Amino acid sequence: MPSPFWTGMRGISAVPSYVIMQPTTLCNLDCRYCYLPLRASDRRMPVPVAEAVAASVNPWAAATERFSVVWHGGEPTSAGRADLAALMAPFEGVEHHVQTNATLIDDAWCEFLAGHGVKVGLSVDGPAELTAQRVGRGGRPAYDQIMRGVAALRRHGIPFAALCVVSDPRPGLAARLYDYFLELGCYALGINVEEREGVNVRDTCFPGEAVQAFWAELTGAWRADPRIELREVEWALRYAGATLAGTEDSLLPRQLDPIPAVGHDGGVVLLSPELAGFSDPRYGDFASGNVLERPLHEILSEVAGRPTGWIGEYLTGVEACRAACPYFGFCGGAHAANRYFEHGRFDGTETDHCRNSKIRLLEGVLDYARTH
Ligand code: SF4
Repeated sequence: MPSPFWTGMRGISAVPSYVIMQPTTLCNLDCRYCYLPLRASDRRMPVPVAEAVAASVNPWAAATERFSVVWHGGEPTSAGRADLAALMAPFEGVEHHVQTNATLIDDAWCEFLAGHGVKVGLSVDGPAELTAQRVGRGGRPAYDQIMRGVAALRRHGIPFAALCVVSDPRPGLAARLYDYFLELGCYALGINVEEREGVNVRDTCFPGEAVQAFWAELTGAWRADPRIELREVEWALRYAGATLAGTEDSLLPRQLDPIPAVGHDGGVVLLSPELAGFSDPRYGDFASGNVLERPLHEILSEVAGRPTGWIGEYLTGVEACRAACPYFGFCGGAHAANRYFEHGRFDGTETDHCRNSKIRLLEGVLDYARTH
């Protein structure tokens, strides 16, 4: 039943909790579900872009306990260590992260990552047959290369989180996946049910019962051995606990995190990095500005103070969710990119993404809780 008292998550904050940086558009892999339009071309971020971002980020980082700069691509290691070091140099007091496919990680990269205190997140979808969609340009599976990268991280004692794309969510798969990641040795795991976005136009309308049973089974596997931080399930359990305590309205942040993603050329796309590199006759290129022309903090202040264009339309969609969806307090309105790539606009509500990764997730976790 819709909860009329939900007050959380109104408007956009002018200060982010992290920024995403694209050191290069290039990725050395060509995964079948990838959404990135420019992954075959090597467009590099020049250092003045990083300097411009750091001029806004460093004061934010100084004012908070933890501020993250996430190097995302393309494949960020494709930029090479020298370029990445030059791009990181202007930042002060931040925590650097890379989200990597791990295929280029070797001893030299491990020394670099350890030396710069970089937190590592790697992308792998489970055992070889489940990672089969992660392939190189010639279509060859990348699994062995990924495992060589994992072996290097382990040799150097570098902790890593893992991100797993699930293209066929169903019961029977979740427990196997969880066991795999326990064995792999990651300290945290994020599960992304495949999304139809960007240049990935595959059908993601998975059977609801199967998706729900997948999440329920994953919850059971985690409860049996909760050594890994399991992002989605732990969040759902926290929400369920808050609902029982009557405090669920206080869980969502008060305002949306703007999540600025800074492209190789300095263009800033807010809320959904997946929109970068696309354009639409109605919305333009989705960028809210360019850090080579205006400071990042000014770009964010203007959008937060007066959200227009597609961002204004998205906020209308969030309000439609608040008014109509019983899952709003858990979800907060899901991602802008999913709405755009599924509906062609931003003010709709339900998407495949929110059914697979919000509604069925919460229901699956509750199914597990009801039967145990
Ligand atoms: S995005 Fe989907 S699950 Fe989230 S609040 Fe809107 S309709 Fe509900």
